Amino acid sequence: MPYRTPRLLIAATAATVVMTITAAVGPFTLFWTNQTRTERNQVEQQLDSIRAVQGLLVDAETGERGYALTGKDVFLQPYYVARSQLPSALQTLRISYEEDLPEEITKVKDFIEHTDLVIGHLDMVVKLRSEGGLEAAAAEVASGNGKHLMDYVRDVSSEVIRGEVQEVAALDEKLNTNLLWAVAISAASFVLTLMLGRFMYVSMRRTIRRQGESARTAVLASTQLGQSLEHLERRNNEVGLLAEMARLLQTDLSQEETLQLASTYCQQLLKGTSGTLFLYRNSADALQPSAGWGHEDVTHEAPIAPKDCWAIRRGHPHVAQHSHELRCAHYAADDESDEAVHWCLPLMAYG
Ligand SMILES: [Zn+2]
Repeated sequence: MPYRTPRLLIAATAATVVMTITAAVGPFTLFWTNQTRTERNQVEQQLDSIRAVQGLLVDAETGERGYALTGKDVFLQPYYVARSQLPSALQTLRISYEEDLPEEITKVKDFIEHTDLVIGHLDMVVKLRSEGGLEAAAAEVASGNGKHLMDYVRDVSSEVIRGEVQEVAALDEKLNTNLLWAVAISAASFVLTLMLGRFMYVSMRRTIRRQGESARTAVLASTQLGQSLEHLERRNNEVGLLAEMARLLQTDLSQEETLQLASTYCQQLLKGTSGTLFLYRNSADALQPSAGWGHEDVTHEAPIAPKDCWAIRRGHPHVAQHSHELRCAHYAADDESDEAVHWCLPLMAYG
């Protein structure tokens, strides 16, 4: 129906939009998740880098302390190992912070600079122990320069690590929030799609049913119009025949010609029927079959008495449609009388 189409169109458009959103949620969620995980991995990598430098510094300091106290080269093994790995570890740390926030880069640069100072001080103590003996090395250690530098490096690294741990926690929360939003949007879209789908199904069924009813109504109206036109055409034809018969009757006709004319036109005007035109005899005691149409053959019909016809007796048209109705004697014995409708019309003419 015309007033249904906009609602159905809007529902179809809305369903298309919702299904598009539903389809887009998956890829977008994957994109957000991957982006957040990439950021999280970068932070984890930064944490690993700074912790690696911390560990190497502790190893180097342990080796330096052992050597300073004992003077034995065996204690320098962790020192040398850490000393050899520290440059690459510091380079990795520097690279991992190249694209970070400016304040983070500043802190890491400060950490690296003081790490270099700590390494330089460890080298100096080892050299003093090697060349100047225990007293020289102990004096330098006792000065507290090394401890001060190491404490500073430890504080800076702790601050950086604390910040990175907080960033990891924030990224985890962001990841969970994104996943929750994706699930909520998917669920809402699914429910909305179901509702719109049901609405469209019901609307379409209703529209199809109404269109069917309209088509049936149109066919019925067309049939009725055709019947009316057929009836009108038949009526026009009858009017034309009556007018033609009336014109002929106004001419000078003999009785025989008049009866022939009546038979001919009744044949055309009363199609599907049969009948007989009776005329009173001059003695007026009987009615003589004088003309007929349809199946009636007047030559084989017998005259009837006026009392045998209710129409003649009453002076009014008489109709008998069923066997239980009052029937005239002149057709009561007909074989087809039970099914036929009998009309008897008394006619009167002057001239
Ligand atoms: Zn009769």
